[in-house]
Amino acid sequence: MKINSSRFIYFLFIVVFFINSCGTTKQNGNNNSYSQNSMNERPVYKGSANRNFNLVHTKLQLYPDWGNRYVSGTAYITLTPHRYPQNEVILDARAMIISEVNQVNNGYFSELGYQYEGDSLIINLDGICAPYDTIEIMVDYIARPEEQEKTGGTAIRGRQGLFFIDPDGDDPEKPTQIWTQGETSNNSVWFPTIDQPNQKMTQEIYLTVDTNYITLSNGILVSSLVNESNGTRTDYWRQSLPHAPYLTMIAVGEFAVVNDQWNDIELKYMVEKEYEPFAKDIFGNTPEMLDFFSKTFNYEFPWEKYSQIVVRDFVSGAMENTTAVVYGEFVQLDDRELLDNDYEDFVAHELMHHWFGDLVTCESWANIPLNEAFATYGEYLWFEYKYGMDYADNEGLYDLQLYLKESVKKQVNIIRFDYEDPDDMYDRHSYQKGGRVLHMLRHYVGDEAFFNACSVYLKRRSYKTAEIHDLRIAFEEVTGEDLNWFFDQWFFASGHPILNIEYDYNQEDLLLILSVSQDQNLSTTPLYKLPVAVDVYTDNGVHRTMIEVDKKQQTFELSVNSKPLLVNFDAEKILVCEKKEIKITEEWIYQYYNAPLYLDRVEALLALEDRIKDDSFDVFMDALNDPSPDIRQLVIDRWDLLTKTDRDRTIEIFTDLLLKEHDSKVKFALMESFVGDVHPRHPASVSKAVMNLRNDPSYLVQTLSYQYLLERDSSDWISELINFETDSNYKVREIAFYLYSIFGDEDQYDFMASYIASEKGTSSYQSLTDFTEYLLSCSPEVALKGCEVLGEESDSDAWIIRLGAYRGLERLNAEYGTSNQVQNGPDAERNQMLSENVRKKATQWMNIIRSREENELLKNAFKQ
Ligand SMILES: [Zn+2]
Repeated sequence: MKINSSRFIYFLFIVVFFINSCGTTKQNGNNNSYSQNSMNERPVYKGSANRNFNLVHTKLQLYPDWGNRYVSGTAYITLTPHRYPQNEVILDARAMIISEVNQVNNGYFSELGYQYEGDSLIINLDGICAPYDTIEIMVDYIARPEEQEKTGGTAIRGRQGLFFIDPDGDDPEKPTQIWTQGETSNNSVWFPTIDQPNQKMTQEIYLTVDTNYITLSNGILVSSLVNESNGTRTDYWRQSLPHAPYLTMIAVGEFAVVNDQWNDIELKYMVEKEYEPFAKDIFGNTPEMLDFFSKTFNYEFPWEKYSQIVVRDFVSGAMENTTAVVYGEFVQLDDRELLDNDYEDFVAHELMHHWFGDLVTCESWANIPLNEAFATYGEYLWFEYKYGMDYADNEGLYDLQLYLKESVKKQVNIIRFDYEDPDDMYDRHSYQKGGRVLHMLRHYVGDEAFFNACSVYLKRRSYKTAEIHDLRIAFEEVTGEDLNWFFDQWFFASGHPILNIEYDYNQEDLLLILSVSQDQNLSTTPLYKLPVAVDVYTDNGVHRTMIEVDKKQQTFELSVNSKPLLVNFDAEKILVCEKKEIKITEEWIYQYYNAPLYLDRVEALLALEDRIKDDSFDVFMDALNDPSPDIRQLVIDRWDLLTKTDRDRTIEIFTDLLLKEHDSKVKFALMESFVGDVHPRHPASVSKAVMNLRNDPSYLVQTLSYQYLLERDSSDWISELINFETDSNYKVREIAFYLYSIFGDEDQYDFMASYIASEKGTSSYQSLTDFTEYLLSCSPEVALKGCEVLGEESDSDAWIIRLGAYRGLERLNAEYGTSNQVQNGPDAERNQMLSENVRKKATQWMNIIRSREENELLKNAFKQ
């Protein structure tokens, strides 16, 4: 599973906003159950589920009931006792109506007694089931996923398992769809099973839908037969290789299907119709990725096909259901949007899971890093292969920063058995820190051993489960080294090293004295053993020494033949750590120009940014020509740190760069530095360069180009936007909407109002804010009409839109007419009266919205 972090942050912001505005408090879930237990209690241990029975096979016949949001189902479940004789079978089945349970013997059905208590279906067998016997149980049931919220205690939509999107077809903005999300234990909402990651089964699904819909499930579509009597069609999907129940999926809806191929594996990219032309831009590297991962791990893609589907309102970022990956709609971008942003990391992540997660599955949620750390590292490996180390290291650095940010509030073991809820395991420790730890392991054992050990692990545990020790043992066999020290300090301990590094040069003895201290809190964090490379640069070249840091305070003496020009500690830049290194400006500058890695250059520039105004100015200007666009962007983003004089000096350099730059993200950064900088001394050459970018393929660059020009002369450029208003591409209409909200006047009101009324998607909170901003600059007559538009948005099903509309009205009520609308002169009184009308209208709508609202959190927020 991959969480969409940008959305996640946005969502967090909203949640934080709610929590603050509602005055509620939330208990910090980061309690350490070990420390809280008294000596008389054993610590919390969430291990793997006991296996009384093993799943063997599941066959489902499913009939979605769109009207009731139910699914009628018949499940045939084949099981075998794991070791001991059994007289009952306990299945997970949540919020269902169970109508019948039978045992099936050679086609004969005999009814079985059962109790359905809570989330468990306890089935009494007819006699004892002996070890190694196989039994088949048939359950007739109705799945009621939306009831799950009511019966499941907490109302967490994400645990619904199966989702109906616009089932009545009454939302013009949304397609009608069904899709499922199993991880963690949510598939037992739509079929009875043993909903644990340490179960594996083969699978058949017969899915009956109206003939206008396409279906997707795991494995191969064996047949697709129209039922002439009622205009439905039954699709029969079969997966003949075993996988865990949480990886089972179905999806139903109208999708454009783009076909592709890798060897004899059939590939499908399933998107909404309007994104059909861009499906290969989004997913088109899949065949090369299949090739890359198959070769890297010396393990051919182990499944029967590979489909990727995009659905609406997905509850996560993406999910690695075996052979049928689901993505949220945010990955659907057109070719122009893809210049600014893409989700190739998601595509690599989900594919990597088909080895690490689907083929070899973590045996318990405590071991989820075996899935997620590898999938996260799969992103790095793909980038390294496809775009080179600079590009990959930029991603790696981002991952490290995400983990370090989380570590300020939370430090837990990567593999931990005392989590409160399985969802707590899906954090930056399991993903990003885990991925970075694998990167360290790779550097420690070497590439050949690393990929060989991964291959051994995959082959040994294929179609089975694993715990972290299986990985360690594979690495120990391949390397011949006891690696408990590595796994103990990185997977079974929390925190990271905090290193303080100092250098001294003894000219008499030609010695470099390197002092390293480990300053982390040793009561909660280990004293680490850190094999690390140190590169010493002198006039005679560069010499690498491997040292082992393993004490609280340590001094290393390295022989040198002259005064070092640079000492590069952790020369491979692999440590998961925080470090403080004392170097003088010349050394950092030397590092930028001479050390080989992207991370060396970034580290040097970040260390020098305080000195950008004085002795480091030149190195920053040189870095504008760095081969890595990420570094060019880093430099441009520091434009604000320059003095006014330096900015004047650089504006020509930036303008030249703007003319020759190919990377959209760098162009965007350049434009961002120009926009809002209404420095009168921008030479005409800047406007001239920017004018060329009005037709840039990147929407973001195009938007900022217009913004720059409008800031300087709105009358000249605003008329060009009229064509944007009627463009068939809503992204182009969005540019006009955004720019009008800043520079527009009443002439654009009709467009602005219709844009709000028809706008789709999830950015609407922002567009309501922009619309409000626009109304504040309009005449009272127009603002009054705008109040109605905002008021009508309060009908929305989406709470975020209702909140946006309310906040807009609130702002109009508070601010309208307090500045530019009230003028002196004969119209002042009339203006004041009309402004008062706007404020009254806004208040009326606010009262209506408040009285209609049923969401408790919003009701509380509105009271503030
Ligand atoms: Zn994942």
